[in-house]
Amino acid sequence: MIKDFELFTPKTLDEALALLHKYRDECKVIAGGQTLVLLMREGLIIPKYVLNIKRIPELSYITSGKDGVRIGAATTHRAIEKSPVMKKALKVLAEMERRLSYIETRNWGTIGGNLCNADPAGDPAPALMALKASVKMASVRGERTMALEDFSLGSHKTALEPDEILTEIQIPVVPPRTGAAYDKFNIIEGTVATAGVAVSITLKSGDGVCDDVRIALGGLARTPMLAKKAEKVLRGKKITDSLIKEAGQKASTEAEPISDISASDEYRRELVKVMVARTGSEAFARAKKA
Ligand SMILES: Cc1cc2nc3c(=O)[nH]c(=O)nc-3n(C[C@H](O)[C@H](O)[C@H](O)COP(=O)(O)OP(=O)(O)OC[C@H]3O[C@@H](n4cnc5c(N)ncnc54)[C@H](O)[C@@H]3O)c2cc1C
Repeated sequence: MIKDFELFTPKTLDEALALLHKYRDECKVIAGGQTLVLLMREGLIIPKYVLNIKRIPELSYITSGKDGVRIGAATTHRAIEKSPVMKKALKVLAEMERRLSYIETRNWGTIGGNLCNADPAGDPAPALMALKASVKMASVRGERTMALEDFSLGSHKTALEPDEILTEIQIPVVPPRTGAAYDKFNIIEGTVATAGVAVSITLKSGDGVCDDVRIALGGLARTPMLAKKAEKVLRGKKITDSLIKEAGQKASTEAEPISDISASDEYRRELVKVMVARTGSEAFARAKKA
């Protein structure tokens, strides 16, 4: 049973930030409520005040410009999945969203809520990290931006201060000859990833030499992570099937998976090998056509 609380429904970000600053320790931000309401129902979180940011138009948008794509934190998963902006270089994000839970959750859940919930196995973080995304946060003191890979500090812990709101996800312009892909393995479709892998590859030219690469893993450590040693295997080299396989082997040594009801740590390491090879091959094929 949910305990009584006072609900604030500000119409502007400034109003929301002032309220959060005032009630910071007793207040929880709510966006889609897909996670927060469950925790409140279980009595695991008992806020005195709940700050609804879903009705703030300033936080719900997808724009594309010369600096790249910007997504407001309160934008729903479904809006991202259906956005025409995600049709070209960013189609990996629409593909990722399509694999995230069921349509009901995607209709309500927001990209910002997902990142702030900081589930190490969430789908959006690895896909966005592969695209070099940053996050913007705001408080009454001002704004700050950080690389997404620095945002999650542990399971359900983020770099947000108690009076900060995540306001925007920023994705830089995707360079030419770039291909990106995301894959997720789960026991039951519609649930979080047992393992999730996103790869983005940028080629120097038509000769298949890797100019830049990002390999991001979800559900394979206490936070979503970049497999930097595996990236080194590919960067600057002519990409071949065996090199992509080698990158998968390397990534499996970098991952720090746990054993749980879905899979043992050993099984997850095997998944990394296979999934990095498979996702890397798909990203490479897309880069050649881009
Ligand atoms: C049945 C089910 C299946 C799911 N399956 C998947 C899945 O397969 N993959 C996956 O990745 N996710 C999955 N999820 C999670 C879901 O996708 C949502 O993204 C997630 O619950 C959080 O989004 P929300 O907008 O509902 O956030 P809320 O529940 O409203 O908030 C979550 C947390 O973030 C904080 N918060 C929210 N927005 C902000 C903000 N802008 N600034 C600061 N703090 C904020 C809240 O205070 C709270 O602590 C699933 C959820 C359910 C219920």
